[in-house]
Amino acid sequence: MLKLKTTFQTLPDVFYSETKRYDPEQAELYYYNEALAEALQFNANDPTIAINQLFQQTHMPIAQAYAGHQFGHFTQLGDGRAMLLGEYQGPEQQLIDIHLKGSGQTPFTHRGDGKATLSAMLREVIYSEALAGLHIPTSRSLAILTTGELVQRQIVEPGAILVRLASSHLRVGSFEYAASLEDNKILASLADYSIKRHYPQISMGEDRFHIFLDAVINAQAKLIAKWLQVGFIHGVMNTDNMTISGETLDFGPCAFMNRYNPQTCFSAIDQEGRYAFGNQVNIAKWNLCRFAESLLPLLNNNQDKAIEIAQTLINRFDDYFNDYWHTILCKKLGFSKVHHDIIQHAEQLLQLMHQHQLDYHTTFYNLTYDNLNQQLKPLQHWLEKWHHLQEQLGITSRTAKDIMYQVNPIVIPRNHVVEAAIAQAIDEQDKTLLNKLLSDLQSPYQQATSDINYLSVPAGHDEYYQTYCGT
Ligand code: AMP
Ligand code: MG
Repeated sequence: MLKLKTTFQTLPDVFYSETKRYDPEQAELYYYNEALAEALQFNANDPTIAINQLFQQTHMPIAQAYAGHQFGHFTQLGDGRAMLLGEYQGPEQQLIDIHLKGSGQTPFTHRGDGKATLSAMLREVIYSEALAGLHIPTSRSLAILTTGELVQRQIVEPGAILVRLASSHLRVGSFEYAASLEDNKILASLADYSIKRHYPQISMGEDRFHIFLDAVINAQAKLIAKWLQVGFIHGVMNTDNMTISGETLDFGPCAFMNRYNPQTCFSAIDQEGRYAFGNQVNIAKWNLCRFAESLLPLLNNNQDKAIEIAQTLINRFDDYFNDYWHTILCKKLGFSKVHHDIIQHAEQLLQLMHQHQLDYHTTFYNLTYDNLNQQLKPLQHWLEKWHHLQEQLGITSRTAKDIMYQVNPIVIPRNHVVEAAIAQAIDEQDKTLLNKLLSDLQSPYQQATSDINYLSVPAGHDEYYQTYCGT
């Protein structure tokens, strides 16, 4: 019998509310992530038994309390359609939250049915597993259960529950909620819990909250740089969707950029482009400011001093981000060391891609795999200078390639492939395309084993493509 831990419940009970168990009687296992289960040593031969073990805990599941800035506006939120079954201790002793998303209303449901649709949960599986394959920190998807219910959205859709795994569900919004209670002891308990869970290297001294803030700023700077590396657009970077661990959380209107354009934004509810591809860095910093504000009472008793400390730490974000991003940019061009001329040359490449409406992914693919075709024509001069830079810095083409293979993926979940895979799975009850896609996404830096073409996008696709919040 698998026994989950409940360390979150050591926190003051204002942080959670016990919630009704989900009765899986009508539910059917629709998807099971064998590779993940194996990596985590879920030692049940049968997936159904493995999932049932998670439901059969003696303790009550909980819904977590949190707040958040959604599109810039503060709101009290909480798990309105999710519950934490408990924490699984992984093979490296790490704690992993086992969450159900779409499992019904909770004491935190403001409005909404507490449910999730199969199509939205399939999107979450595809994108979370894509990021994991790309070596980008993310929550994971262990399984989808169909509930047998119909869920009313724009159309009526089959209902589903996602079994989501994450190193925790602590968010910037958890701290905004704690700060709103105006009780420093409660706030400190959350910060100490987060430190122990995610930053155990921080010793429990007086200045631990400064170091904690700095560590979260660093982890988020790193995460955003990695998103940009592969053209990922999160789509709804509200503070309640930004983790303390530095993992990607909540896959709603997310997408991958095709043609390079920093203003790319597919989300139907984001008219202003607040969460556009190129704005993610600014938004991450904005969110971290909200995090720092929440921590102020812990940074110093004197508010002015606390603000000064927070400001100094927040100002480090740009340096952290630039360090990560420049390293990635240089690697994308085959240089393991950061060099000013290469950064400049990489930035020029981005400008050329923008100007000539080149596909971000395919361009880097072509450069990496010497696919010198028509698409690279506008880059003729740029290519010459690139080769010149390699010579100048004594980098052989072989060395450059070895570095580029590791950061320029061959497989990304192209938006049109994702939509086709989901449509086929739901409308035709045929998982062929979905399974091919999921299999390719496991090793995206290698040639795809399926016959899916990841290098071209149907003409005009981006113009009408829209994504929606995870409903
Ligand atoms: P999200 O957009 O998934 O980040 O969710 C934002 C907030 O809305 C969270 O508090 C969710 O729990 C809540 N929420 C989203 N969808 C539903 C739903 N179908 N029923 C109840 N609450 C929901
Ligand atoms: Mg959310």
